[in-house]
Amino acid sequence: MSISNSTQCIWAGEETYLLQGATQVPVVHSVGFGYNDVDEWQKVALGEKPGHIYGRNTNPTVHAFEQKVKQLEGADAVTSASTGMGIISSTLFGLLAPGQRVVSVKDTYGGTNVLFTEFLPKFNIDVTLCDTTDHNQIETEIAKGCDVLYLESPTNPTTKVMDIKRLASAGKENGATVIVDNTFATPINQQPLRLGADIVLHSATKFLGGHADALGGVACGPDNLIKQIYHYREINGATLHPMAAYLLLRGMKTLALRIRAQNHNAMQVAQFLENHKAIEHVFYPGLPSHSGHEIAKQQMTGFGGMLSFMLRENSFDAVRQFVPRLKYAHAAANLGAVETTIGPPATTSHVECSAEERAAMGIPESLIRYSAGIEDAEDLIDDLRQALQAFT
Ligand SMILES: *Cc1c(COP(=O)(O)O)cnc(C)c1O
Repeated sequence: MSISNSTQCIWAGEETYLLQGATQVPVVHSVGFGYNDVDEWQKVALGEKPGHIYGRNTNPTVHAFEQKVKQLEGADAVTSASTGMGIISSTLFGLLAPGQRVVSVKDTYGGTNVLFTEFLPKFNIDVTLCDTTDHNQIETEIAKGCDVLYLESPTNPTTKVMDIKRLASAGKENGATVIVDNTFATPINQQPLRLGADIVLHSATKFLGGHADALGGVACGPDNLIKQIYHYREINGATLHPMAAYLLLRGMKTLALRIRAQNHNAMQVAQFLENHKAIEHVFYPGLPSHSGHEIAKQQMTGFGGMLSFMLRENSFDAVRQFVPRLKYAHAAANLGAVETTIGPPATTSHVECSAEERAAMGIPESLIRYSAGIEDAEDLIDDLRQALQAFT
């Protein structure tokens, strides 16, 4: 029986740990798990029997959280980490070896980009970063030899869209492991494994948790690859904390509801901004004017809560004046929460770049990233309208 993702958000992954009739999964803080029967202990330790040994490896609360994500992504196996970067680095270091080659794009998340440009090359892993929307170039690079194809869609902050099915198929034909960072879309809007990817990653800190009160990361995919990632993560020690796992698990119960509201709010806000005379351009995959709209329509069931826009007055000074005028938006680095958050890339995702570098990456100085929360869309629009008044 196939059940809808709204039902999965509530029920998936919970049953094993509902103790003595509890309707909620407990937070298990115990570091060690004891056994009177040494043979049984050994079986669990060898992975021949389910159970837990030591908190750096596995934990019941963490396990319940992982199972929920796994079922939503339609995967065979899952593992987690303390942060999104924890799972991304565990995935790359767990799967890659010196002499291998990664093909990815220039617009990946800032931290991922640092792994690609600074850390992987130190271990003699070759990384080629292509133009994010130039699918022909990406395919040409894949054909030259590719062990890992690493994609992210939509991207941060200009919401570029990549054709996951097309690129995953090119990657697979060349023997690559295809990884997709699905943080911006969430499994409610996009399911990369069904589009041909091998592994799907999330910063659970963002939409999965949804309340900006817990860090976490998760990877889903086939058993053999997830085992490799887990093995590296248990040794590097970037383990998801049980309390964070509980907060993420609780947040995920409303994931489908929140994403529906965020899809709706982002679309309303994008349409309003696109028609406002103080706005130069709006980047949102749900707008027909977006260069990736047709692909997004095919591979996404909703266009997501993230958008970005440029003020007509293209200066950082205009951003400096505009941002504090908004009443219903935190000026903060996080995204995907129930509260609307905004931030210019110059202070958040691309703080380490110079103005010239940002311009070269197609990130104008007046760009503002907007993560739509679950407030009423009309209130968000009224707030933007009053804040933009000074710029008309
Ligand atoms: C935030 C983010 C990450 C990193 O996650 P952390 O939990 O902050 O480590 C990775 N990818 C994307 C797309 C993100 O937005």
